[in-house]
Amino acid sequence: MDRNIFDVIIVGAGPAGSTAAKFIAEEGFKVLLIDRAKFPRNKPCGGALTRRVIERFPYIAEILRKLLTSQEIFDGKIYSPSLKYSAEIVSENPLGFMVFRDEFDYELVKIAKNAGVEFIDDYHIKNVIFNKDSVRIRSKSDSIVECKVIIGADGVRSLIAKKSGLNLRWRPDQLGVCILKEFEINEDHIKHLQKHKKGIHIHIGFENLYGYAWTFFKKNRINIGIGCLLSEKKDNLKEVYHKYIALLNEEGIIPDLKIENLKGALIPLKLPLKKTYGDKVLLIGDAAGFVNSLSGEGLYYALSSGEIAAKTCIEILKKGHSFSEKNLRLYQKLWLKDFGKELKSILFLRRFTRIWLEGIIKYAHLDEKWKNMIMNVILGFKNISKLTLARRYMWCRFKFWVKDMFFAVIDAISYVFNFYHYGGAKILNQFVTGFENLMIEIATFGQNRLPFNNIKIEELKIWEEIYETIKNPKKNKEKNMLTYIFSRFKLILNKFVEKLRISINTF
Ligand SMILES: Cc1cc2nc3c(=O)[nH]c(=O)nc-3n(C[C@H](O)[C@H](O)[C@H](O)COP(=O)(O)OP(=O)(O)OC[C@H]3O[C@@H](n4cnc5c(N)ncnc54)[C@H](O)[C@@H]3O)c2cc1C
Repeated sequence: MDRNIFDVIIVGAGPAGSTAAKFIAEEGFKVLLIDRAKFPRNKPCGGALTRRVIERFPYIAEILRKLLTSQEIFDGKIYSPSLKYSAEIVSENPLGFMVFRDEFDYELVKIAKNAGVEFIDDYHIKNVIFNKDSVRIRSKSDSIVECKVIIGADGVRSLIAKKSGLNLRWRPDQLGVCILKEFEINEDHIKHLQKHKKGIHIHIGFENLYGYAWTFFKKNRINIGIGCLLSEKKDNLKEVYHKYIALLNEEGIIPDLKIENLKGALIPLKLPLKKTYGDKVLLIGDAAGFVNSLSGEGLYYALSSGEIAAKTCIEILKKGHSFSEKNLRLYQKLWLKDFGKELKSILFLRRFTRIWLEGIIKYAHLDEKWKNMIMNVILGFKNISKLTLARRYMWCRFKFWVKDMFFAVIDAISYVFNFYHYGGAKILNQFVTGFENLMIEIATFGQNRLPFNNIKIEELKIWEEIYETIKNPKKNKEKNMLTYIFSRFKLILNKFVEKLRISINTF
């Protein structure tokens, strides 16, 4: 029976595990990295890296340069559930990068190996035993490895989280479920499709999902998926996927694609575990629940928590201290300070989207400041406090509600004037429509804009007539004085409204 003793054993060679392994080994400590999969292995994922990943880990820029398949992303488009509103983001600097996870993860493992990490793939754990001074792992082939501290980097269904008692299982409302596929497409075809289209398309709340559907363009692949909270999963998720593909196809975003071999995957989608450390154990990446609960971004947090866990272990090893629960508390303190607040703000924003999914994108469509705020949160460029987000959102709601209400009232008044002016069933009909619209506006609390902004051809004709009346009152003798005054008043009011509309729009 072989027996090997290490300073640190890391279970799971995803981005979190490889990163932790690399940093610890670079300090000269003995590290074992094990994974049950045979590498290179694929991981069902969008494969989008935000820009801050390379800002924090410059060596990853090297990997991206080396991988000919990675690609920069400069633009994206987010659609509201009704598809009525959309917000675009275009940047001169890359917003992020697209990678193939099989290649990217394998490169990270190679970097760890170069730093001195011992790596064993296809390693199947039979048992994990927490002793007084060490942790022992027995494999299914009965080899034993032992360490001073174990790091659980084994993803959302973490065995180490279970064995250490830190997380026996996630609740369905803490998990997201996804269906996806990465379609192989000829590179030239992708280039052609990409000519006028965005690199990323996000359809929030597609088909009433409490989640979103995504389309990511890569070098010679298109990654398309849908995801929602497991507790709110629809029975017909596959059907929704087919509908999504049909929509993209209709919009000319993608060519005809053969939908088969769809993959399913889970992702933690709430706050991280309350406790991510224990006696001789740390959890990192998905195992700890470090994911942006709004966008599903997990790679940045996997890499960052790997780095922070390494920092903690290095400090303890250098000081010669034990890996007691008390000493490992440092890890939780460090990640809370690093990205803990950010994850809380994101969850707060997601709760907003729960109630006002349409509104979030509608306001991003209408209000540049709000759009920048949510883009910053989603892309992780800037941490924005819950209070600032709430204030701006409520301000947008109020601003557009007042604006909509104002125009609704003016609309109704103008219909009343028209009624006096012209009489007849047509005008009566217009008046009723105006009134109805006003009622709808009140009922929906400003959610739906009245068609007032889109001046109808019919209305234009009326305006032309009124204008004629004003310009040539003598020619229109048949119009009585009262109508004339009404017309003038309406014109002045309209000019005032236009000015107000412009000033509100630019507010
Ligand atoms: C559908 C989907 C799309 C996503 N899209 C994006 C995206 O576009 N951008 C983004 O930033 N994030 C995305 N994420 C999240 C991202 O994939 C994860 O947050 C990230 O992979 C977490 O890295 P990790 O190293 O913690 O875990 P993983 O990458 O899951 O790696 C865990 C490793 O542990 C191994 N393992 C598991 N159990 C054991 C065991 N018992 N013994 C040994 N080894 C074990 C596995 O084989 C695996 O290699 C997405 C997630 C999903 C599900």
